[in-house]
Amino acid sequence: MAEPDLFDTENSALARARGIYLDADAGAGSYRATLGELISHYERLLRETRRLIRRSDREELEMNRLNQRLQELAQELEYRATHDTLTGALNRGAVIERATAALQEGTLALIVLDIDHFKRLNDTFGHPVGDVVICEVTACLSACLRDAMPEGALLGRVGGEEFAALLPDTDCDAAIVLAERMRVRIADHIFAAPLTAPVTASFGISCNARGTSFVNAYARADEALYDAKRAGRNRVVCADGMAGGD
Ligand code: GH3
Ligand code: MG
Ligand code: MG
Repeated sequence: MAEPDLFDTENSALARARGIYLDADAGAGSYRATLGELISHYERLLRETRRLIRRSDREELEMNRLNQRLQELAQELEYRATHDTLTGALNRGAVIERATAALQEGTLALIVLDIDHFKRLNDTFGHPVGDVVICEVTACLSACLRDAMPEGALLGRVGGEEFAALLPDTDCDAAIVLAERMRVRIADHIFAAPLTAPVTASFGISCNARGTSFVNAYARADEALYDAKRAGRNRVVCADGMAGGD
């Protein structure tokens, strides 16, 4: 069955008007009636066209709004997939991804740190206080990175109370200076009540040539961190030498 034509009535009116136009004998009365009919159809079409344009403008606005919202949600999703919810630092997966990419591009100094005797702090004051300490330590670390402004530096939370700072194209001496600043900043920080004693952290550093695997870079920094723990905590230890590519 043929689709009904949306403009059936207008088409009929047009056909009648053509008939009158082609009829040389048509009188003024027929002309007037046909013109009247055409005017009313023309006015209705104008009204409808205006209504459709308004509606399409509204729908375009709504589509732009939805598009904008979609982009915001995609960004939010990307942020949630790469950031730790408690501290806002990069999460473990993002640290591995960014460090791996940085090691393919050039040298990378890697600082890993772990809060000292954190279990004791949790056991004494409770988990929520432990969480606040983790956030305040993150703030101390971020402030040090902000002050030192090493280009492309990133901070991540790689475990419960363990963090990593990625320092692309930074030599060992500069990484040690920065880690030492971080250590002092945490040790000097006055944590909110009910904490009474200072909180400290131990640091391990590895300095890595371009092409080093993340596993190697992290293992050496982690080993240095545990040397710092064994040596009495609240200190910075740098892994010997610079690892070559592997
Ligand atoms: P060390 O000086 O050798 O590092 O001792 P430590 O007590 O800090 O180390 P350990 O690994 O034994 O303790 C880490 C604790 O961190 C154990 C775990 O309950 C706690 N922890 C892990 N994730 C979180 C977290 O998100 N919030 C809090 N409050 N505690 C956490
Ligand atoms: Mg730990
Ligand atoms: Mg610890």
